[in-house]
Amino acid sequence: MTSTDTRKTAAFASALDVIAQVEPRVAAAIGQELADQRDSLKLIASENYASPAVLLAMGNWFSDKYAEGTPGRRFYAACQNVDTVERLAAEHARDLFGAEHAYVQPHSGIDANLVAFWAVLAHRVESPALAEAGVKNVDALTDADWQRLRRALGDQRMLGMSLDAGGHLTHGFRPNISGKMFEQSSYGTDPSTGLIDYAALRERARAFRPLVLVAGYSAYPRLVDFAAMREIADEVGATLMVDMAHFAGLVAGKVLTGDFDPVPHAGIVTTTTHKSLRGPRGGMVLCTEEFAPSVDRGCPMVLGGPLPHVMAAKAVALAEARRPEFAGYAQQIVANARALAEGLLRRGVRLVTGGTDNHLVLADVGAGGLTGRQAEASLLDAGLVTNRNAVPADPNGPWYTSGIRLGTPALTTRGLREDELREVGELIADVLAATEPDADSKVRYRLDPRVAERVRARAAELLAVHPLYPEVQLDLGTRG
Ligand code: PLP
Repeated sequence: MTSTDTRKTAAFASALDVIAQVEPRVAAAIGQELADQRDSLKLIASENYASPAVLLAMGNWFSDKYAEGTPGRRFYAACQNVDTVERLAAEHARDLFGAEHAYVQPHSGIDANLVAFWAVLAHRVESPALAEAGVKNVDALTDADWQRLRRALGDQRMLGMSLDAGGHLTHGFRPNISGKMFEQSSYGTDPSTGLIDYAALRERARAFRPLVLVAGYSAYPRLVDFAAMREIADEVGATLMVDMAHFAGLVAGKVLTGDFDPVPHAGIVTTTTHKSLRGPRGGMVLCTEEFAPSVDRGCPMVLGGPLPHVMAAKAVALAEARRPEFAGYAQQIVANARALAEGLLRRGVRLVTGGTDNHLVLADVGAGGLTGRQAEASLLDAGLVTNRNAVPADPNGPWYTSGIRLGTPALTTRGLREDELREVGELIADVLAATEPDADSKVRYRLDPRVAERVRARAAELLAVHPLYPEVQLDLGTRG
C-alpha cells in the first residue's frame, strides 16, 4: 500500500470507530454496506462508486451550516467558507460543461428539475405578469396578482418523452408535481426502430405548442440529437430543457459532443451528480445567463437550505471530472456497454433499438415469456444486480414491466473491460434462459439452481479481479 492508500484506510477506519462509540449498529451497517457492494456485480444504470475524496468531503462540519442565498448574498452570517466551496463547484461545472451559469444547490435530480421548471415559468410567465402588475419583485405581489399568475401557470404545457420510451417521472407525469404544474403530452419512439422519431415529435410540438420541451431520459439507449430538438423548440416558441441526469458523465468526458452535447443547445440543463458523473448524491442546474436570476432563486422557491457538505463533495467530484483520465473513463463506459450488448445479442436476447450508443442497454425479456419483475429477481438470485424497466408499448405496465435496464458506469469504475462485459452479457442471457415463469403469475418463477450457482461463482471471480475501493482496507469482521 502507498502512503496515500494508508491514509484512506485510516480515514474511514477512524470515522467508523468514532461512530461506533455512539451507535455501533450504524457503524456496523455502514461497514456491511461496503462489504455488500464489494460482493455484488452492479449493473444498475443510475448508480456508481464515488471516490474516497468525494465521500470524505461530505462527512464534516459543513453539515452544520445554514447558507440560504447565493455566494456573497446570504441570508445567514458567517458563510465565507460555504461561499468558497459553492463558488468552486460552480466554477468547475461551468468550465467542465462550457455553461454560462451553474447552480449547484439542488439536493437531488428531482429538485434540479423543479428549479428548472420554476425558472422557465418565472422567466416566461411570471415576468410578463409581474410587469403587468407593475411590480419588480415576486414578494410584492398582491393576492389578486397571485390569482392571475396562478391562472396563467395553469395554462402551461410541457412536452416530454413518454415513460415507456425511457422518459422520467419528473418530465410532466402525474406521480410527480410536474404533472400537476403542467398540462403534459409525450413523444415516443418509432415502433419499428425504437429511436426517437424527430418528424413525429415536430408534428406533436406544432399541435401542442408547449412552453417547455424536455429532452433527456432514464432508459433510452441511444444518442439524442439536441440540435434537432432545439430547432423544434424554437419553431414552436418553447424553451428546450435537457435532463442529462443519466449521461452527464458522458458529456463531461466529451463522449457526447456537437449535436449530442446538450449544453450549447438547451436554455436549461439539469443533472444529478451521482450517476455517470460519479459524484455525491445531488443535483445541479446549468443554464444561459438569461435564466440565471430565476435559477438562483431555487432556494427558497422550491429548495430547502443548501447542503454545504454536499456542495464541497460536488466541487471535488467536478475537479476529478476535469482531469484527462475522466475522458478515458467515459469512453470506457460506452465501450463496455457496447460489449455488454454484444454478449446479450450473441445469446439471442432482444434489445430495444438493437444495441446501445451510451451507458445503458435495455433488454426486452417479454420476448422470452418473462416479466421484468421475474427477470430482475432471477438475476439477483444469480448475484447480478439489475433493475426492471418498461419497454416501449409495454404490455406489462410500469410495475411488472417487460424489460431489464443494464448500465456500465459502476462496473467501469471497478475496472472491468470489454471482454468481461461481453461475458457478463452472456451470463445474463444464461440466467434468463434458465428462468421458467410460473404460468399464472407475473412474479413467481423457477431458476435452475445449477445455472444460478455457476453464474454466482463466475460473478464472484470477476469481482475478485476488480476489488472495490482496494485502497480502503477495513477490518469489517470486528465491527459488527
Ligand atoms: N432525472 C432523471 C432522468 C433520472 O433518471 C432521475 C433518477 O433516476 C432523476 C431525474 C431524479 O434524480 P434523484 O433521484 O436524484 O432525485
